Amino acid sequence: MKIALIAHDHKKDSLVEFAIAYKEILQQHELYATGTTGQRIQDEVGLKLTRFRSGPLGGDQQIGSMIANNDMDMVVFFRDPLTAQPHEPDVTALVRLCDVYHIPLATNMGTAEILLKGLQEGFVDWRLIQERRK
Ligand code: PGA
Repeated sequence: MKIALIAHDHKKDSLVEFAIAYKEILQQHELYATGTTGQRIQDEVGLKLTRFRSGPLGGDQQIGSMIANNDMDMVVFFRDPLTAQPHEPDVTALVRLCDVYHIPLATNMGTAEILLKGLQEGFVDWRLIQERRK
């Protein structure tokens, strides 16, 4: 599975903690991240991933482009609901594309846990989800 990891600044610590806790599962997949989030996950968790530009500089849109090309399977995006983001339109666009293409999207730790556990245990028929995207 191709999984994108993104966190706004006030949520980066949470995403790093999450990636440490779920490293074993995450490392079995192909990981992508926006610039700063990806740097922290590489340095602090030791996971290999492909880093895009920082979110405000187009990183969210790069991930959106993968979704539109049917080339991304899951998005973990810890948004900061309490701080205005300069690239809010990009954030909205990314969430919208996840809905357009039926991409599982976790915007908080609780949902992310369920998605990763579901992925690990095979609770969800991901192929069916992928089929629906075509
Ligand atoms: P960043 O981007 O990982 O480069 O901070 C995330 C975002 O703000 O969308």
